[in-house]
Amino acid sequence: MSITTNIEEIQNELKPIGVTLVAISKTKPLEDIQEAYDAGQRIFGENLVQDMVDKYEQLPKDIQWHMVGHLQTNKVKYIAPFIAMIESVDSLKVLKEINKQATKNNRVIDCLLQIFIADEDTKFGLDHVELIELLESEEFATLENIRIRGLMGIATNTDNEKVIKEEFYELKMLFDGIKVSYFRKEDSFDTLSMGMSSDYKIAIEQGSNMIRLGSTLFGKRVIKHFKAK
Ligand SMILES: *Cc1c(COP(=O)(O)O)cnc(C)c1O
Repeated sequence: MSITTNIEEIQNELKPIGVTLVAISKTKPLEDIQEAYDAGQRIFGENLVQDMVDKYEQLPKDIQWHMVGHLQTNKVKYIAPFIAMIESVDSLKVLKEINKQATKNNRVIDCLLQIFIADEDTKFGLDHVELIELLESEEFATLENIRIRGLMGIATNTDNEKVIKEEFYELKMLFDGIKVSYFRKEDSFDTLSMGMSSDYKIAIEQGSNMIRLGSTLFGKRVIKHFKAK
């Protein structure tokens, strides 16, 4: 199936239920992204700063770019002028740098806090204690150029649907609890990003309203890095 058909079919599924699609275009060439764009897709996600900057420069300017990979503080400045959302905030340190670079660019940057939910020790993210520490820290309260829009999580890479379901359930409960405790008055705390190609149906059942699909839309990733011209 073509990228166009894939985008159209999945958007027909998602739009009526209010779930936002982030098309994960990492490693994919400009032509593939342009095809998805022509099919109406506007939100794209990348996990490497350099690739995102290269693509940003060469593709239509109304694309909303989401960073979904671990972000080093020294690279925030390259995406701060244009990034639509950073989904992978996993420390107060990086959040402070995002705030600093957002201030320099005279804008407010939307962020999700990435929560560690998987049964593996290889993935980034805050645990529950770290999340509460961050939200209650005095420094966090002073950051005026970031806006926390919600939470993001990646489930364990397993065929065991029960495990995936429990991890997404846990993240949804955390999201609801955090909203009541810390963002009760902020309508903009509204985004729960969970679900990838292999598990997005379970994620939506468990209350996700933003899914991040790569291979389902663009096919398998055969190369590791996008090569800019
Ligand atoms: C690569 C990636 C995805 C998409 O993965 P697929 O399995 O290809 O859908 C989603 N989220 C993050 C954080 C990723 O790095």
